Amino acid sequence: MGALDHLKQELAELEEQGLLLHPRTLEGATGARARFDGRDVINLASNNYLGLANHPRLNEAASRAALECGAGSGAVRTIAGTMTMHRELERRFAEFKHAEAALMFQSGFTSNAGTVAAILSKDDVIVSDQLNHASIIDGARLSRAEIKVFPHKDVGAADELLSQTARPGRRQLLITDGVFSMDGDIAPLPGLVEVAEKHGAIMMVDDAHASGVLGTGGAGTVDHFGLHGRVDIQVGTLSKAIGVLGGFIAGPGHLIEWLENRGRPFLFSTSAPPSVVAACLEALDVIRDEPERLERLWSNTELFKDGLHALGFDTGASETPITPVISGDEETTQTLARRLFEEGVFCPAIVFPTVGRGSARVRTIVAADHSESDLREALDAFERVGRELGVR
Ligand code: PMP
Repeated sequence: MGALDHLKQELAELEEQGLLLHPRTLEGATGARARFDGRDVINLASNNYLGLANHPRLNEAASRAALECGAGSGAVRTIAGTMTMHRELERRFAEFKHAEAALMFQSGFTSNAGTVAAILSKDDVIVSDQLNHASIIDGARLSRAEIKVFPHKDVGAADELLSQTARPGRRQLLITDGVFSMDGDIAPLPGLVEVAEKHGAIMMVDDAHASGVLGTGGAGTVDHFGLHGRVDIQVGTLSKAIGVLGGFIAGPGHLIEWLENRGRPFLFSTSAPPSVVAACLEALDVIRDEPERLERLWSNTELFKDGLHALGFDTGASETPITPVISGDEETTQTLARRLFEEGVFCPAIVFPTVGRGSARVRTIVAADHSESDLREALDAFERVGRELGVR
């Protein structure tokens, strides 16, 4: 009997319930079409919204930086791992988000978790949308603040929770994803901002799926809703539309200085290597130089959504390039994803516990570099497989 044998039992249970993950393996570069597990497929599974993950300019910038500045940074940011290019990227992100300052983290996950944990303590409270990302939940737990969850997008309930939990001297954080990753709907940010202002709460938005996607030039949900100066903390990831890896926080200068001193992933985990930082800088230039990518992302989104609706599929509340096709039943959804893959379309099945029981779906994400024929071909596959399985 080994000390870790209980895990074998738990794994067997997951397998029995159909919940054990078996990630597919990408062979070669990602893109609108890519090769997974030996099959060439239309890729509707990646977060590579603007098609930058394998853009020649980013690849070139990454290679050059590695040759000139090395493969690694050698240290955490606060000791010897802050390079000129980290500072330059932060300046550019502050500009991109119309914020006073910005700070790069190793990922979107550590940006959220490290920031929430650093700005609250056990006497405080966090009021959080039910569908917020796992990294927000982990940050909330690390902060030891009281956690109150409001029903998805329910501004009235958030208001009520802020009223109920108010105490003199207690800090309150109202936090939401900008775009929700499983449903592709947009947060009711204007309403939430008003409520936060009414209660004097800190307002924080996780724009992982909105940075580079929503707003002018991809500036995010704050820009989309014209709420400049009214959201205290904006989170972005560099791993989705930006196409590389990392995360950042944008906000007032004193927040950024605080995170440089108390944001634990920033302090205790080695900084991004030159290739990553240089590719992110180049991504910002490409976004500026090729605005047609953002236009294409949205025209592709419209084409694909319209196609799914015409075929009678349920796409839930989606308003963005993330479009779920909801079949409800777990087993049917798994079969749908497998059959689509066999028909040359990759979109993963998302089932409980990632989404609630009975709302299982395959999740599609279109990108700027899908061609019209990629999307029409994918829709044809949806039509065939949907009919075969009785999913509409
Ligand atoms: N927030 C949301 C809403 C996300 O979907 C993700 C990525 N799954 C993250 C944060 C984390 O970003 P990263 O992948 O850069 O760690």
